[in-house]
Amino acid sequence: MTTPEEHPQAAAPADDAQATDGHVLAGAPDAFGRLWNPHRMAYVSRGQEQVTDEHTCPFCAAPEREDESSLLLHRGRTCFVILNLYPYNAGHLLICPYRHVPMYTDITAEETAEMATLTQTAMIALERTAAPAGFNLGMNQGMVGGAGIAAHLHQHVVPRWGGDGNFLPIIAQTKNMTQTLGQTWRQLHDVWDEAATEFADRQTRNATGVATTAEDGPRHDDRRRQAPGDRR
Ligand SMILES: [Zn+2]
Repeated sequence: MTTPEEHPQAAAPADDAQATDGHVLAGAPDAFGRLWNPHRMAYVSRGQEQVTDEHTCPFCAAPEREDESSLLLHRGRTCFVILNLYPYNAGHLLICPYRHVPMYTDITAEETAEMATLTQTAMIALERTAAPAGFNLGMNQGMVGGAGIAAHLHQHVVPRWGGDGNFLPIIAQTKNMTQTLGQTWRQLHDVWDEAATEFADRQTRNATGVATTAEDGPRHDDRRRQAPGDRR
């Protein structure tokens, strides 16, 4: 049996700081920081080609696993909510139908309605956890439309803050993330039920507003669409 003294590499500590200080691993320090993203390799090496049907689709597989390990936030009747593994911003999440269909025109009225409900609920959950100043919502459809997984429809919900865009994505193809996915999942998961209640309350208030303005004249959104010069 050999001892660590005979084979120094065998004694290399697992801790990164110790490994650097002790010079037990090969390499010389330089001026560059490094972001280690090994999980990207599965995506960049084959990406879309990995998804050939529902058996190889990550959106079909996610609901079959446990919520936290698959970053799943909520299971609805026809759609579910999940964090994006490749977020544009912390809190970037996706609303997906359970069915493996590619286009918005492929989903039913019930799926369409639940996708909208879950989108609004997700926005409220994000308001509670991260107070974004705005949102981007959208569905990229087809590979030429920019869909990462074109075979399975998904709606992006991206929270935005003033100054959240910077030079890093432009010069270094790198996004700065302020939270780990696990932290984001925990925060949103913990407020989801409250957000669902708040969604129902806002729906009641919104419906009241519609009923009132319908009797009084043009609805708020109709007025807003009117250019100032058109007002008489
Ligand atoms: Zn799928």
